[in-house]
Amino acid sequence: MQSQRMPLVAGNWKMNGDVELAEKMQQTFGATSIENVDILICPPFPYLSSLSSDSFAKGAQNLSQFAKGAHTGEVSATMLAEVGCQYVLIGHSERRQDNGESDDVVALKVQAALENKIIPVLCVGETEAIRESGDFLKCIAAQLDKVIALVGITQFAHMVVAYEPVWAIGTGKTASPEQAQEVHKFIRQHLAGLNSEVAQGLRILYGGSVKAANAKELFSQPDIDGGLIGGASLDPQEFLNICLAAKS
Ligand code: PEP
Repeated sequence: MQSQRMPLVAGNWKMNGDVELAEKMQQTFGATSIENVDILICPPFPYLSSLSSDSFAKGAQNLSQFAKGAHTGEVSATMLAEVGCQYVLIGHSERRQDNGESDDVVALKVQAALENKIIPVLCVGETEAIRESGDFLKCIAAQLDKVIALVGITQFAHMVVAYEPVWAIGTGKTASPEQAQEVHKFIRQHLAGLNSEVAQGLRILYGGSVKAANAKELFSQPDIDGGLIGGASLDPQEFLNICLAAKS
C-alpha cells in the first residue's frame, strides 16, 4: 500500500550559517518548485527573522520548557510562534550531550511546543556503545515512552519523530537503509501498540550523514518519511537535491 504520509525534509544548520546563506536558500528554493514534499529549515535563532519563503517552513533548533521568566539565554515557545516558527527540533543528540538534556526535560519541551501549536520534531537515537551492545531498540523505546507518558499518544498526531543514530551524525557513517528501516518500523510498531491510526500517520525522518547521493535509497524505505539533514543542508543546491530525492 502506498503511504499517504507527505515526505518532510528538514535542514538543521546547527551553529552555522549567516544572513547571506538565508538569502541564498530563499533564492535557490524560490527558483524551483517542489511539489509533494514539505521542506523545513532550522537556522540558529538570530536568522529566524531573516528567513521567509513560501517554498519552505522555518523552525527552531531548541526551545525552553518554561513559559517565561528568569531563564537567561532561553527562548520560549510563544516567542518562536511569534516569529513564524512552525516546527522546533527537540532532543537533538548534541543538546542531550552538550547541555545534559534528559528524557524528562525533552518531554517537557515537547509539551511546551504542543501547547503553542508548534510541531515538535522529537529526535531519538542510540549511541555507538548502545548499538554495539544490541540494546538499541530498548533505548529508542525508553526515549519515546517518556514523551508518551507526559503528553499522551494522541499528541503524536501533531508531531514528527526523527531517528538519528548518534554514531551517524556528522561522522559520514550513514546507517544502511536496512538498519534505518528496522528502527523506523520498530518506532511505528511501538506507537501502533497504543494507537494504530496515529502511528500510521506519523512522519518518521532519518538523520545521520544524509547527502544527495544516499538520500533516495534511504527515503524509499517504507517507514522512512524524509530526512533531518545537518551538514548537507548548508549547501543550498545539495539540500535542494536531497529534497528532490524525497519526491515519490
Ligand atoms: C543533524 O544534525 O541532525 C544531522 C543529522 O547531521 P548530519 O547530517 O551532518 O549528520
